[in-house]
Amino acid sequence: MERKFTIITFGCRLNQYQSEKIRERLSACNLSFTENPEEAELIIVNGCVVTHRGERDTRKAINKYSKKGKKVIATGCYIKLPYVHPANNVIFKEFHEFSRDYVVKNTSLFQQKRHRTLVGIQEGCDFRCSYCIVPFTRGKARDRDPEEIMKEIKEYVKSGTREIVLTGTDIGSFGKTSTIKLHSFIRDIKEKFPKLLIRLSSILPPHVNKEIVSLFRENILMPHVHLPLQSGSDKVLRSMRRPYKLKTYLKAFWELYQSHPDMAIGTDIIVGFPTESETDFKETLKIVEELPFAYAHIFLYSKRPLTEAFRFKELPYNVIKERERKLIELINSKRKEFIRKFIGKSLTGIVEYNREVIKGTAANYIKFVSPASKNIKEGEIVKIMIKGEKDYKADAIILNTESQ
Ligand code: SF4
Repeated sequence: MERKFTIITFGCRLNQYQSEKIRERLSACNLSFTENPEEAELIIVNGCVVTHRGERDTRKAINKYSKKGKKVIATGCYIKLPYVHPANNVIFKEFHEFSRDYVVKNTSLFQQKRHRTLVGIQEGCDFRCSYCIVPFTRGKARDRDPEEIMKEIKEYVKSGTREIVLTGTDIGSFGKTSTIKLHSFIRDIKEKFPKLLIRLSSILPPHVNKEIVSLFRENILMPHVHLPLQSGSDKVLRSMRRPYKLKTYLKAFWELYQSHPDMAIGTDIIVGFPTESETDFKETLKIVEELPFAYAHIFLYSKRPLTEAFRFKELPYNVIKERERKLIELINSKRKEFIRKFIGKSLTGIVEYNREVIKGTAANYIKFVSPASKNIKEGEIVKIMIKGEKDYKADAIILNTESQ
């Protein structure tokens, strides 16, 4: 009988990348993947502990399926917590242990065709933000072997991948444990695979330098990046122990923004950090108002064990929720504004879905929808014209395809 497995993933892009790698490996070991946990014999739970909710959801998933008698393997940041232990039917396995325990014989790991794919290039972080548990779970920053990464990209390109998204915990630190710097490594990738689209997932302000900015200017990187802000108040940034002041953030923001006419910059903001006064929050609102953000992820402050901020007195929940509401309202209008800026303009994009409608992602990460067409293949790179904005997506028409 066919043995089936599924993977339940919580958290960041690095977790998503590692889940995908686990899926490839297990699939190449004659296990078959299913989306449905009920029909799976083996459940992999790739857990997240960045927020209280992530930890709770991870624990719930592990308990739910182990109680049903399934074999559960927990992995990811969750298993690094000093106070969690595997219960019955549950095994804790670190990411690298999957390649040790599931040895692939005569089969390619890359059976699945994906048009856009994540590529992990490093793991861990040397900063110590006062609220963040990640350095405790992922450890110090270390690069993946550049040769290994290049081999992986080559396999993806062979199997039909058109776009890669470079990801990690702090990808700007890439180059710390290998001999090549991030910008040179990205140039190498482009030189070897000139048709491959390369996206940088996220970068911290102190890592934004002229070499990185040039990659956007020269169209080596796609015009989109995530630049986490967290707070618009220097006082709060200081107590968060963020590795930059507002001035550094703004400099990085405008250098990136001006590097390409289509540039999209997204951000992360924490609301309700314990030291955030009403005035500090207003400073955040002011910065968000002023900067042409394409989108932002808003996180409610979540107290995490092991961190410095754990002992800080929390703000009342209703205050945090009210701040979240104001910020979401503002961000939603910025998201629409950003898309509307491109009405009447053309962008390149990749078609990811073509059935009742076409769905795709533009180079600057605007999600677009356009009428279905028999002449267009999924995975094709197309030129689109933006006609309007609806539900935070662009209504678009396809101007031409690769074959035209
Ligand atoms: S930069 Fe700060 S928030 Fe980001 S992973 Fe490192 S310690 Fe955590």
